[in-house]
Amino acid sequence: MIIVSLFTPTLQFSNDLADVMRIFWGNIGLRVNESGGDVTVTHREWTEGSIRFCTMTAEGMYTGRAERSSPLSEDSLLEKRYHKRLIKQTLYDVMKQITGRTPPWGSLTGIRPTRLLYEGMGRGLTIDQAMAETQSRFDVRQDKAELLRQIVTVQQEIAAPKMDEVDLYVGIPFCVSRCAYCSFLSGEVGKGKQLPPYVEALEKEIAATLQLIQEKGLKPRAFYMGGGTPTSLSAKLLDQVLSAAQPFIDQAREVTIEAGRPDTIDEDKLLVIRDHGATRISVNPQTMHDETLDRIGRRHTTAQTEAAYALARKIGFHHINMDLIAGLPGENIHMFLRTLAWSREMAPESLTVHTLSIKRSSLLHLWEAQLPDGQMVETMVEAGRQEAARRGMRPYYLYRQKYMAGNLENVGYALPGHECVYNIDMMEETGHVLAAGAGAISKRVDPRVGRIERAPNVSEISQYMDRVEEMIGRKRGLWQDAWN
Ligand code: SF4
Repeated sequence: MIIVSLFTPTLQFSNDLADVMRIFWGNIGLRVNESGGDVTVTHREWTEGSIRFCTMTAEGMYTGRAERSSPLSEDSLLEKRYHKRLIKQTLYDVMKQITGRTPPWGSLTGIRPTRLLYEGMGRGLTIDQAMAETQSRFDVRQDKAELLRQIVTVQQEIAAPKMDEVDLYVGIPFCVSRCAYCSFLSGEVGKGKQLPPYVEALEKEIAATLQLIQEKGLKPRAFYMGGGTPTSLSAKLLDQVLSAAQPFIDQAREVTIEAGRPDTIDEDKLLVIRDHGATRISVNPQTMHDETLDRIGRRHTTAQTEAAYALARKIGFHHINMDLIAGLPGENIHMFLRTLAWSREMAPESLTVHTLSIKRSSLLHLWEAQLPDGQMVETMVEAGRQEAARRGMRPYYLYRQKYMAGNLENVGYALPGHECVYNIDMMEETGHVLAAGAGAISKRVDPRVGRIERAPNVSEISQYMDRVEEMIGRKRGLWQDAWN
């Protein structure tokens, strides 16, 4: 890990600058305004008239220098944005110079890439012009810019949420074991003692949420039950939760239930899910290699995944989503290609190809695991894209996270007509979400003016059960005022 001494007069942007360095170096040790690093980066800036100038100089293990300038603005919000962009881009220039690398997403950090296209189109640009603008402003590579264009094109086929529509999310924060890369706040099921009281609290919150939906004249759009792993619940408890949400489910255009871990799936649970009206389930192998599954703490086998797919098909599910991860510990390109070939036999209608990221709250981080070679993971991700295209799938949503191998992305692909509306709503933040369960976040949005307000539930499971009335109150508070 490279230790960087960063000397900057703008402490408020030091995290943004660290993010730029991570694009090139992955994990770094950062000393702000302290010497002693392997490399020292010095940021200087000054103004002349209405122009701000910025230089970044690297010394030590690497040497280089870059300079940029940008106009000052009298609008304080714009001024902050211009200022931050100037210093990030100047640092990006010097990083590119000293490492000799051109990252796939250029200097883009902390912003959803598709949003840039939508913003450009909102200013009257065509989709191609918006793509070209994003590409040149942030140094985004041609293939990634093209991916964005394809995604936004597919998304535009799907009606955006109306102001009176709402998605309902229900969270089940339990799993049978903890995956090494997981950063979610899910609890292990253990002996299952917490499950019945959790479901009881959830039923209460769902009932109050449906009442709020009715009072405010909102209309159901998409239902999504995620986690954790919802199928960690018994068939009986699943039935209780879904029964509570049934009035919403009956009117929703799409109903997804995550059944992520194949070792939690059985016939009784799938029958409950089917009979409550699920239109889409997600069964996630991540890899077809048992030794990798073992290494990452997923206590199931490839054979269990195959059995779960066969059972789900037999029971009558017509849309199964599959999640895979490129860059899992110990995997090479050949292993990933074999996983892709195997996934073809499972024939999911949609496929999400994730890039491994090592988040601070994950076991991999605790174990001080290093990200795999970015070039190798990029080849995997590209193979995933090509495989999806061969099966007639189109990319329809994308997101990026911190600490991702190769500074890449996660992409959802689907056969035409199988795009998950809820995923798009979530990623693009274009629709309201009412969310129930520990750690779930409700959102009220007005995309016309870019207004978003959030009401998060507490994440800790016993706190949630004790304070469910307060969580209901938080949601009500979001819809207290009329928005014009
Ligand atoms: S199944 Fe999903 S939520 Fe559960 S531990 Fe694994 S990654 Fe985390």
